Amino acid sequence: MENLFKKRQERLNIFQNARKKIVHQAPKREIPDNVFKTCDKCNDNIPYSEFIENHYVCPRCGYHLKISARERLRQIIDDNTFKEFDKDATSKNEENFIGYDDKLDKYKRATGLKEAVVCGVGRINHQKVAIAVMDSNFMMGSMGEVVGEKITRTIEYATKKKLPLIISCTSGGARMQEGIMSLMQMAKTSSAIKRFSDRGGLYISILTNPTTGGVSASFAMLGDIILAEPDALIGFAGRRVIEKTINEVLPPDFQRAEFLLEKGFVDQIVERKDMKQTLSDLVAFHIGK
Ligand SMILES: [Zn+2]
Repeated sequence: MENLFKKRQERLNIFQNARKKIVHQAPKREIPDNVFKTCDKCNDNIPYSEFIENHYVCPRCGYHLKISARERLRQIIDDNTFKEFDKDATSKNEENFIGYDDKLDKYKRATGLKEAVVCGVGRINHQKVAIAVMDSNFMMGSMGEVVGEKITRTIEYATKKKLPLIISCTSGGARMQEGIMSLMQMAKTSSAIKRFSDRGGLYISILTNPTTGGVSASFAMLGDIILAEPDALIGFAGRRVIEKTINEVLPPDFQRAEFLLEKGFVDQIVERKDMKQTLSDLVAFHIGK
């Protein structure tokens, strides 16, 4: 495993001095009461402050808004316990894909992130865990070489330190601008999960809206326990592609978390307000507290 790690390090040469930087999690945002947001599901006009107080969930219909990786960490991880890995790792346009550099710059400016996943260690109700949280605000959480590498390194850290592993997934799939290198991240992350699992580690996968493509076809669905947020879209190919391929109309709840729970792909649907306690209970149960 050490050799594999070294080889990847040499190839990328972009992770140096990037480990164990302490960062502050996103502060709770204060929004004036006169700012309203229309809920995407129930169309009610609701003060934005009510969304924030309710974990960015619609207080009327329970619709879960997309949230950033930093906000999710703030909700799950104990205050001031998160240490981030590989914060400055960033993708290169190795395939010279037209427009990719500009796109990367645009998303870096918009999100304040360098890539579509935030990784590190932290505590959940005092229990130490390794955690990777994907962020759909950065190129739809697509998985390129750096996303795959950061997640793999988090898995390997958890393996080495015998820590429970949590990955919060959201993704549109593989990053097409990186060609075949993005696809091999599926095999790399899955192999790392296998080694982690062989050593008896607990891996909890959280599927959030949307978790699709290469991420759903690799580490997202490999959790020992797979949790999902209500109504999250989870699938590999999109609805239209499948409908055209099989020439049939799919049911309205197809690829939704509730449908996948019914079919046995998901173990439990957990509302955002209950996520931290659920994770805490599962980790405590695993380590035998
Ligand atoms: Zn609503």
